[in-house]
Amino acid sequence: MEKCGLCERELGEDSYLLGNEHYHFTCGYDTARELKEAAVNYAFKMNSFVALGISLVNREFLLNLFSNNFRENETITSEFNMGLWRTNSPSIIIMPPESPKPTKIRPVQGGVSVGNVNFPVAGTIGGVVIIDNEFYILSSGRALAPENFELRDEVSQDAYFDGGNEKDVIGFLSSTALPVKGNSNTMDCAVALVYEDVGVAGRIVRIGNIGNTAEPSLGMKVMKRGRTTDTTYGVIICTDATVSVIYPGGEHIFRDQFIVAREKSNFALSGDEGAFVMDENKNVIGIILASSSDITVVSPIDPVLERFGARLLRR
Ligand SMILES: [Zn+2]
Repeated sequence: MEKCGLCERELGEDSYLLGNEHYHFTCGYDTARELKEAAVNYAFKMNSFVALGISLVNREFLLNLFSNNFRENETITSEFNMGLWRTNSPSIIIMPPESPKPTKIRPVQGGVSVGNVNFPVAGTIGGVVIIDNEFYILSSGRALAPENFELRDEVSQDAYFDGGNEKDVIGFLSSTALPVKGNSNTMDCAVALVYEDVGVAGRIVRIGNIGNTAEPSLGMKVMKRGRTTDTTYGVIICTDATVSVIYPGGEHIFRDQFIVAREKSNFALSGDEGAFVMDENKNVIGIILASSSDITVVSPIDPVLERFGARLLRR
């Protein structure tokens, strides 16, 4: 019987390739994660770097390097010899939201336009969360707290960008978790306290009531409802990803993200950031960070909820 390359116990059905050796799934995943950490600092230096994470193709673990216009003279060093897989992928560039998409919905719930009333911005409400027994909406930092924001700025659904006005104000910005310089960002999110006279519901437009939270995993089928592209479906093709996102003010690096590939159409476009990503049982897996025409980068939900001391409103 063949032995696992990490724990050296016998392999049965639970056998996955990494490099030239076979591993149990969890042993292979842990080994791939170590290789990825060793390779990531090198990958940053490549001009074409978009993302580096772990993928699984036909029971083989691969370090998946997403790069933009990869050039042959950007040589791959020996650090990368183990199961490297290159995917050509456009850079992930933050763009203004797509043209106005009005969808005013009450009670306030996930899946629709929201924005800070003082800026021409629009993103998607992920969902309603509870913090210290009060209701908040959770969304993208870029929709609720764009550059030069102030805490207590009011937010509206629809966003003013999408045709909302003072009658559509639903609350005010109360806390942020925005990216900073350096390589340790894990989210770009904010929450806004919902005014008491505005109703809320623990559901997503067109998807319905949400389940619990769940962990992302390779190959998982997912869905989302967002302001720009409505309800779409995709599959998780990469986890533990370190990703470069180009903001108007410069690049930010995010770690511990996961990547969703499009199925029939784009999984997400500009204006969908903030939308919750769910598994087939409507459990919430993550919140959309950013997307290119090919891939969507998603922040796992549990660290986001933890950061705000929040839990999901589920009905
Ligand atoms: Zn093992």
